[in-house]
Amino acid sequence: NGHVAEPKYDELDATKISYTFTKEPRDVPAPGVTSLNGSTICTDHMITVKWTAKSGWETPELRPYGPLTLMPTASVLHYATECFEGLKAYRGFDGKLRLFRPDCNAKRFLMSSTRISLPTFPPESVEKLLLALMAVDGPKWLSRERPGSFIYLRPTLIGTHAQLGVQAPSEALLYIIASYMPVMDSPAGGMKLHTSPNDMVRAWVGGFGYAKVGANYGPSLLATQEARDRGYGQILWLYGSEGFCTEAGASNFFVVWKTKEGKTQLITAPLDDRLILDGVTRRSILQLARERLGDEVEVVERKYTIEEVMEANSEGRILESFAAGTAFFVTPVSLIHHREQDVEIPMGKAGDGGAYTLKLKGWLRDIMYGNEDHPWGVVV
Ligand code: PMP
Repeated sequence: NGHVAEPKYDELDATKISYTFTKEPRDVPAPGVTSLNGSTICTDHMITVKWTAKSGWETPELRPYGPLTLMPTASVLHYATECFEGLKAYRGFDGKLRLFRPDCNAKRFLMSSTRISLPTFPPESVEKLLLALMAVDGPKWLSRERPGSFIYLRPTLIGTHAQLGVQAPSEALLYIIASYMPVMDSPAGGMKLHTSPNDMVRAWVGGFGYAKVGANYGPSLLATQEARDRGYGQILWLYGSEGFCTEAGASNFFVVWKTKEGKTQLITAPLDDRLILDGVTRRSILQLARERLGDEVEVVERKYTIEEVMEANSEGRILESFAAGTAFFVTPVSLIHHREQDVEIPMGKAGDGGAYTLKLKGWLRDIMYGNEDHPWGVVV
């Protein structure tokens, strides 16, 4: 009859949210302070929503930020039934509070949840909950006196079922917290990458590297720590005997190079073998590059190897490289270390990134902070 079936989700009504405000409001940290005795600083409130297989989602609650109670047998603690999201809320230069494309994060959250047998939800309900938390904590924690500041939102979903059997949990908890994140945007001198060790992969075909599940992150810390000890910031994760470039740390990886034919290309790994996360920043950069750079730059999503990068370097064809993600935003890459060889990447005239890197970064920043009116900037 011409109807397209609506996908079926467990019902979660964000409009029914209940509010319990804190009686012990905390101080907003001074600019630049992002931790207290080594711990992340969160805002006054959080949102929690319980789910059971029997009754579905309960009423969402906004309540004082504080510890959770879990049984030691909780599914998440044993079988990594956990997924999360990360996005920022921005205090615009026009005084407004904005989220950047929260619909993309909400949809990716649902995809990750489904991959690890946690419950479904209408993605719009998570978007509404994000806006509800920011409506309460945003005005205080992102003050109007500090335009250009941001806080980091972390929606999380965990299996809470107190059952040691290896099975899909029949109880879960969705929560959203808002935290102060170190401004990891652009370490001075650019990001230095070390390619992943020969005996380690972050993701594999048929695996779950495309999902934002906690299980992808713990096992990556060992290689990252080793690289840090040697003076590099992040791992450039390679895949397969061919050494395909995939991601840089917890961000997507881009190269701007000249082809042998002399064409300028912006290249990044494709989504189709599900080896990388479908980054919201990645997606936005690709779209802006296609819309705004015109014929000047060809935008390419395809598999490409570290050998291609090394060869382009030796032929002087590498123009720029950058990593893109919520945490690091758009950070120029200044160096890639691969098998005892350093590839130095041009950092532009002022040493803070190549011209295309800075152009793309500027366009995104203008949307996030309201200098440009754009549907991606969602006002709280
Ligand atoms: N790759 C990985 C593995 C990540 O964890 C992230 C951060 N979410 C990204 C890429 C970048 O994604 P986004 O632009 O949505 O933050």
